[in-house]
Amino acid sequence: MREGSSLAALPWWEVQAAVAQFAVCFVMLGTTLTLPFLGAMGRDTRMWLVTVSLTAGVLGAVGTLAAGGQGVGWGAAFHPVFLLGLAVAATLRSRRSAPRPTDPTAATIGAYVVIVGSTATLALCALTDGPDIATWCAGFAVVGGGLRMAVNVRELAQLAVSRREALTDELTGLANRRAVLRRAEELCAERMPLALALLDVDKFKEVNDALGHAAGDDLLRMVAQRLESALRPGDLLGRLGGDEFAVVAVLGEADAPEDAALQLATRLHDRLAEPFAVGGLFVHASASIGVTTTATAWLDAYGPARLLRQADVAMYDAKRSGIGVALYDQDRHAESSGHLALVEDLRAALAGDQLVLHHQPQIDIDTGRVTGVESLVRWTHPTRGQVAPMEFLPLAEVHGLMGPVTEAVLGQAVTQLADWRRRGLHLRMSVNLSASNLLDTGLPARVSELLSRHAVPPASLVLEVTESVLLSDPDRSLSVVRALARLGITVSIDDFGTGYSSLAYLRDLPVAELKLDRSFTADLVTSARSEAIVASTIELAHRLGLRVVAEGVEDDVTLQRLQSLGCDVSQGYLHARPLPATELEQWLADRTATLPAL
Ligand code: C2E
Ligand code: CA
Ligand code: CA
Repeated sequence: MREGSSLAALPWWEVQAAVAQFAVCFVMLGTTLTLPFLGAMGRDTRMWLVTVSLTAGVLGAVGTLAAGGQGVGWGAAFHPVFLLGLAVAATLRSRRSAPRPTDPTAATIGAYVVIVGSTATLALCALTDGPDIATWCAGFAVVGGGLRMAVNVRELAQLAVSRREALTDELTGLANRRAVLRRAEELCAERMPLALALLDVDKFKEVNDALGHAAGDDLLRMVAQRLESALRPGDLLGRLGGDEFAVVAVLGEADAPEDAALQLATRLHDRLAEPFAVGGLFVHASASIGVTTTATAWLDAYGPARLLRQADVAMYDAKRSGIGVALYDQDRHAESSGHLALVEDLRAALAGDQLVLHHQPQIDIDTGRVTGVESLVRWTHPTRGQVAPMEFLPLAEVHGLMGPVTEAVLGQAVTQLADWRRRGLHLRMSVNLSASNLLDTGLPARVSELLSRHAVPPASLVLEVTESVLLSDPDRSLSVVRALARLGITVSIDDFGTGYSSLAYLRDLPVAELKLDRSFTADLVTSARSEAIVASTIELAHRLGLRVVAEGVEDDVTLQRLQSLGCDVSQGYLHARPLPATELEQWLADRTATLPAL
């Protein structure tokens, strides 16, 4: 633009160029501001296009300035490149593979700059009273910018929805873990007295395994509904994941915090007392609830993480002792750790050598010879001492550690088998598999490799599976079981008689052994019905060519009854408890020396 000259006095072609330069500057400004929102350089083609366009724009502007601002200048050469680059960039889509809510910030800045720029251009055009093209362009730009703004408002509304979704548990519609923790954090920040209850559904895993995931989901939804009905205004109920729920409750000033917290937990517990109708059955699914409170004296250390840990410790105590509800007690619980800590300890145990096997002998009822052992995992915890398998295996299953646990167990089992074989002790060894093991299609190949590495014949290994284990994903688990059987490994159905569809499995599975559940053995001599079931099961199994093992044989009378019914193998405290390898060897040696008549 010529210094001192009135715009109105300039010829129209010069005014057009000046206005275009002016508009281009605004677009460049908008683009520069938008640049940081486009994503990392190199990954997104749009970023390169915008950078090239900007460079062209700047070169054009600099070139025009260098030419003394005369006429169209270098801008005429560079600005088409600039505009074309931007136009192509605008039509490209982000290459991000995972869909994520759009961030309207960049577009808002762009639209804002366009509107301001265009309004200024309109004002300039009005001032110069020049030809209409620029006025029209600027007018269109204002309308375009306005439309973009409207789109942004809609995107912001969508963003609000997705933020809400990020705080909601999809299955139950309750708050999720994040929302629960946020709420606890807010209350802690305001120093409001609060109680945090953590709740774990006791029988959830069994229902899920036995009746399938859909029934498990139904149960969780029903539990959520019942719990909701126990809430007071202002309480927040959320699902933390799996079968774990939490309630954050604000306590009244007048309440004694501990009493109020216990009342809350008891209320929640009572709501779950009635059975639930799931999958055509009535299921009792009570819960273990741990509750903690910010107590009378407020501590600065109170925060969601600390409260959650305390509630977890209390909940674990409630579960272990079977009392249903426990209040966190600083004196009693300070030293103990909850089940989350136990899971962490289990990870460490897997890395070290805290998991060992105990072997329980199995006796051929006819000959009295020891033909095999069932190897059962034992965990010697550095501070807790012995942790029972039923205490940590369900946690391992829920927290994805069952694979590594079984891997460790199988590794030790096969090593032990190889060692015994080298020393002339030829025993079969049974190892238990869990639900997640049977979903692992790589398991058969790994077991095969393990056996050949230790030169152990597959026939020496028996893998026990329960019916509930097979139910979680029948197709996949059946294919894993078949692959194991093809290797020559014996597959055994454990706890037979406790599941829902035992006979179908006998028909469909390549099993060679059936283990009568302990509950039948226990009342074999006292219950005629149990005896009838055992007798016909043994007969059926034999007709199918299966070996029958009776578990939990604790006395001679039971053993004799089993013998008269034709049962093949006996396992139980009558013979021996599960023993460490060296003790078992000693037990075998003693037994051979004084072989008792069976
Ligand atoms: P299970 O497979 O039914 O194992 C038999 C359980 O009954 C063992 O308990 C054993 O100690 C116990 N038992 C044996 N004889 C008698 C008896 O005469 N009377 C009574 N009352 N009980 C007897 P344990 O070792 O506590 O194992 C419990 C369960 O933990 C096992 O039940 C099995 O389901 C699971 N488990 C143990 N070790 C492993 C493992 O290495 N992997 C997997 N996946 N599960 C395991
Ligand atoms: Ca077993
Ligand atoms: Ca069993």
